[in-house]
Amino acid sequence: MSFPPCPKCESEFVYPDQDLLICPECAYEWNPNAVSEEDSILVRDANGTQLAEGDKVTLIKDLKVKGSSMVLKIGTKALIRRIVDGKDHQLDCKVDGAGEIMVTAQFVKKA
Ligand SMILES: [Zn+2]
Repeated sequence: MSFPPCPKCESEFVYPDQDLLICPECAYEWNPNAVSEEDSILVRDANGTQLAEGDKVTLIKDLKVKGSSMVLKIGTKALIRRIVDGKDHQLDCKVDGAGEIMVTAQFVKKA
């Protein structure tokens, strides 16, 4: 029986411990059954900080909202609802007063 390589360092020498897989090279432990497709999408903000669902972010530039005349001002706070693998946007955000908007990750920074 073989195991998937370590998601952190890609070591092939992982071994199981109950429900977890453990990497002997970087000591990373993870549950292989808990890894969903969404977790595999790596999205970084303008500063290179990795973003996750539930993170609060602020806009670093004014953004026009697609399909409306509304403009979200720089500094607007948003909550990441979902991270998606879009070509021109990666963040499905909720903004107070504006509802759900799609935002490109490089136009935000983690709050
Ligand atoms: Zn590792």
